[in-house]
Amino acid sequence: MPPQGFPLNSPLIHNKHMNTKSPGSTIAAVSTAAGPGGIAIVRLSGPQAEPILTRVFQPRQAALPLPSHRLCLGQVVDPETGRVLDEALAAVMRAPHTYTREDVAEIHTHGGPMVTGRVLEVVLRAGARLAEPGEFTKRAFLAGRIDLSQAEAVAELIAARGRAEADLALAQLAGGLKENVLTLREPLLDVLAHLEVALDFPDEDAEILDGPQASARLKRETLAPLEKLLESYEAGRIFREGLALAIVGRPNVGKSSLLNRLLGDERAIVTPEPGTTRDLIEAEALLGGVPLTLVDTAGLETPPRDAAEAEGQRRAKNRAAEADLVLLVIDQSRPLADEDRRLLDLMRGRPLLGVLNKSDLVPALDPDEVRALLAPARVLQTSAKTGQGLDGLQALILETVNGGDFQSDRIPALAPNARHKRALEEARGPVRAAIEGLKTGLPPEIVALEIQTALDRLGRITGQTLPEDVLNRIFETFCLGK
Ligand code: GDP
Repeated sequence: MPPQGFPLNSPLIHNKHMNTKSPGSTIAAVSTAAGPGGIAIVRLSGPQAEPILTRVFQPRQAALPLPSHRLCLGQVVDPETGRVLDEALAAVMRAPHTYTREDVAEIHTHGGPMVTGRVLEVVLRAGARLAEPGEFTKRAFLAGRIDLSQAEAVAELIAARGRAEADLALAQLAGGLKENVLTLREPLLDVLAHLEVALDFPDEDAEILDGPQASARLKRETLAPLEKLLESYEAGRIFREGLALAIVGRPNVGKSSLLNRLLGDERAIVTPEPGTTRDLIEAEALLGGVPLTLVDTAGLETPPRDAAEAEGQRRAKNRAAEADLVLLVIDQSRPLADEDRRLLDLMRGRPLLGVLNKSDLVPALDPDEVRALLAPARVLQTSAKTGQGLDGLQALILETVNGGDFQSDRIPALAPNARHKRALEEARGPVRAAIEGLKTGLPPEIVALEIQTALDRLGRITGQTLPEDVLNRIFETFCLGK
């Protein structure tokens, strides 16, 4: 995602503001999206937030020092020239009850790149430095106000396209995943503590730790919930990343018309000429809260007539191969053609739905024959012209994904993202090894090592055990001003 907010290459921002990186520095950025708007917010965080605000902001009535956590009307003034830059509301929020746990100041200016640019410029000249992308949230993390999964949730919430995606991010922001992970770690820490005692007092270990009992506990309280969390990844992934749906079929069967129906607007160009959908047409839609990327593909089955068509076919094949689900569209008002059969062979083995389109016309093929050919894939009849069967198609698309176990009202309350999933998978091995080792009575130092490894990997989710460069990379994906 490109950084939003104030353009980094603006001539108003000089590089000198970006180079000083001392941890106690005061940072500033435009925290609202770039472009014209009613208001925009220039945000500051750090020990100098209040003095800098006082330098550039003159309250109309409120006396200095400004009251904490309260908006005051006034003027933003260039302290060097005395020139008024905007009429604005400003607030100082003194630590620790702030986003970053540092002193924070906000100036609510009129929106628009010129106003915000000038206000940011005087703030930087008054002693702040331009924040890096995600730096406000990073400071909240470093101060311990939120863990890494919550920091990631901020970025996910901002980027959410669908309601379900936003709900997942909100649950994560509220600390749902963090608490889950801490709960998983608890029995590991407990058993580890006992093992350490056993190591320190080797003669008494039999009294201190009952191996099979500890093994059963880790299985029940760590491994089982860890696996459950992993299971919710797939459903969460669909809401987070959306589904790639490829629509394939020979020319003129109604692919573009179906795409338009699914989208609800005229996204693809529909013409009665065969082979007009020369290239891929991609569009985004929301289906039952799931973001959907729809790809309408060029006719795959006929020999290409020119280089452009050949390229279109090549790309269509790739997309169909990558798609989460392929809709194979067949015109049921025409007899089944060799091209239909070739396409069928090409798509066999992929997650597939058969669509017999043009159900409003007199059928020229036997639906049961198609069903038999496509089995075990499901087949349904639609009319892109009248809309018949479209609701069923939408429902079936959602049902078919996620191993036929998808229901939009069964959005998981919590779902790890790809990074969390990796950490959970990496923790699972050592957890299993520890369970096995406790059961079979392996030496405590070996079991302790497995448990430490598991703890370390789980700690990557909350950020407790992540190397700094990895942390930095995560925050770098944030937008400016967040
Ligand atoms: P594509 O080449 O597969 O993308 O097919 P189009 O969506 O361009 O449709 C080809 C032609 O079939 C157009 O004239 C559409 O209006 C028509 N068409 C598409 N779907 C239906 C349908 O369900 N019923 C009828 N009667 N015509 C349809």
